[in-house]
Amino acid sequence: MSIDFSTRWAWAEVHTGLISHNVAIVAQRTAPVQVWAVVKANGYGHGAIQVANAALAGGATGLCVAIVDEGVALRRAGITAPILLLSEQPAELADLIVGYQLTPTVTTTRGAAVLAASASAADQTVKVHIKVDTGMHRVGVAPNEVVSLASFISSYESLTIEGVYTHFAVADDPSHSANAAQLSTFNSVLDDLSSRGINPPLVHAANSAAALANEPSRFTMVRLGIAMYGLRPGPGVAELCAGLIPAMSLKARVSAVRWVEAGEAVSYGLVRPLTKGSLIATVPIGYADGVPRALGRANIQVLLNGVPRSFAGTITMDQLMIDCESDSSVMVGDEVVLIGKQGVHSVTADDWADALGTIGYEIVCGISPRIFRRYS
Ligand SMILES: *Cc1c(COP(=O)(O)O)cnc(C)c1O
Repeated sequence: MSIDFSTRWAWAEVHTGLISHNVAIVAQRTAPVQVWAVVKANGYGHGAIQVANAALAGGATGLCVAIVDEGVALRRAGITAPILLLSEQPAELADLIVGYQLTPTVTTTRGAAVLAASASAADQTVKVHIKVDTGMHRVGVAPNEVVSLASFISSYESLTIEGVYTHFAVADDPSHSANAAQLSTFNSVLDDLSSRGINPPLVHAANSAAALANEPSRFTMVRLGIAMYGLRPGPGVAELCAGLIPAMSLKARVSAVRWVEAGEAVSYGLVRPLTKGSLIATVPIGYADGVPRALGRANIQVLLNGVPRSFAGTITMDQLMIDCESDSSVMVGDEVVLIGKQGVHSVTADDWADALGTIGYEIVCGISPRIFRRYS
């Protein structure tokens, strides 16, 4: 559970207007297809409810989540837009899915049967989406079993097939041959369904990368995740992300300063003794907040009084230290930008990801619940 107040000198700022802006940019580029905003994992760490509302304001017409809990939380917050669950959920959750009017993904006949039973017990009709495994091999029904699954679903009066979809494994690498192979498999599935008179209104395959880079993959809807947050899906589509602006900053204040002599070292392990005397600023944020410990050894800087500066020594659980060299102007209370802009400089979650050999998704999802999100 996340906290609802904060006294801390470490916080995140989420600019919801930028979420709306990013959605609007992608919606404009992909028009006339629908944009459904992916707000799983607490809106990639940005706050699911706030992101959902901002995305809907920016032109999204639906939402996607990973698990039932996430869908229920959105409904309890009063959100009435369609909410798609991105994989088939455990059978025992069928009543909740129906009760909260979430849109389930169906990939098995057993899954369809339990949903049909819950729907008919509640005297409701439930719209479902069939997910097809066209090559990623994570979830989805095999292409040659789609028609029989669709016929099985259609045999229930309480179920309607609203959507059919798939997911790409290498959308962030647009020239990879697997994109065309998955698309071709998916198109054959659509043809098979169509020849049996099954033409679901929502056909979707694209995540952010495919929505931007792979026009034939847009069909009638795209599932927009990372690009909505202003981050890039991967280096291969970075240029297509021009105009998208990161919506979350991570900030803190200097909590202590001290002069440390040359030859002394800072923090656990006393690694990297200072080659010259330095002002060391302590900042009350650490790896328990989502600043990875490995960042202390990576080529990443933090912004303090408009100047990019390096970490001094190991990042600890609750605090980290910054090497301010001979700058004696740094004082307790000064603002530190770990992710975001200060003056003419900026550091992004993608910069952290590149320095750590991961992706921006993992960085923003990793900003822990201990960090209070301020919204503007
Ligand atoms: C998470 C997810 C998305 C969103 O992907 P992005 O790369 O963040 O745009 C889309 N579809 C599925 C099935 C997902 O799991």
